[in-house]
Amino acid sequence: MERIRLGNTVFEGENNVYLLQGEETVLVDAGVATEPTREEFVDGLASFGVTPADVDRVFLTHWHYDHAGLAGMIQNAGGATVHAHEADAELISGAEASLIEDRALQQETFEGWQIPDGPREELLSFLEGHAELAGEDVDVTPFAGGDRFDVNGIEFEAVHLPGHSAGLSAFAFEGEGERQAFVGDAILPKYTPNVGGADVRVESPLAKYVDSLVEMIDRDWDRALPGHRDPIEDPAGRAREILGHHRERTENVIDVLDRHGACDAWTVSHHLFGELETIHILHGPGEAFAHLDHLQRHGIVEREATDYRLVVEDPDVDELFPEP
Ligand SMILES: [Zn+2]
Ligand SMILES: [Zn+2]
Repeated sequence: MERIRLGNTVFEGENNVYLLQGEETVLVDAGVATEPTREEFVDGLASFGVTPADVDRVFLTHWHYDHAGLAGMIQNAGGATVHAHEADAELISGAEASLIEDRALQQETFEGWQIPDGPREELLSFLEGHAELAGEDVDVTPFAGGDRFDVNGIEFEAVHLPGHSAGLSAFAFEGEGERQAFVGDAILPKYTPNVGGADVRVESPLAKYVDSLVEMIDRDWDRALPGHRDPIEDPAGRAREILGHHRERTENVIDVLDRHGACDAWTVSHHLFGELETIHILHGPGEAFAHLDHLQRHGIVEREATDYRLVVEDPDVDELFPEP
């Protein structure tokens, strides 16, 4: 298995594309559809004697443009089969618009979180400049969690890990005697993947993500191969760490509501993260919303229109964050 690293200053940083060669030429993820990234990708493949037209199958971890952008180009070059989870398939195929292009969804989301006019305009112009990164339309072959694939004699198991996106899936396999998984952005070595803003379609995003983290802790893979940066040698430990970050953040959200009274998602985000720029204008309040929504579902806050009010004194967050 080879790793091709693609420069990407747009989202979380350098993207990994994994290349598996054998009877079939198989990729896990593809980069963002900019011209410089496409050139890097083609050069990266060429260093292993492969062209985009040689690719038989592409497994996508999720719909984000920095992971799925070049899938259409690859498919158009040589007819590759592109696999993606059914919950993300329509965004990848081009049948459904994401927040990046969907005006009505933008309006509804920004209103719901009370993003003020200034940051809203900055975010809209940022999104407008990034719509083309989705790349060419794709004929997607959808899968569900639990589906298995034979990849050059190795079994891939699709493990559905929603939260960061609705369809985010890992591909678990056994390689060199170790239990490994391609995890996309389900866990990352350095950053905590955004939940709430990265895919606004996800219902109760933090609850789903907590379940996904618990699933990764239970599976206790020997190594995770993430969508960004280097392999994670203790995926369960990293998942536990991220679970701890979210627990701490929820405590901070409770503290904000305790000190300031009822707040909307933007105000909570402002107290947590301060001034925001570019995509963070979406991710900040999205993250705040995910936590407020999680608290609301557990009866710790109540929502009135776009405001959230703390209704439990000294709430116990244990039940929101299980310790597996
Ligand atoms: Zn992502
Ligand atoms: Zn990513």
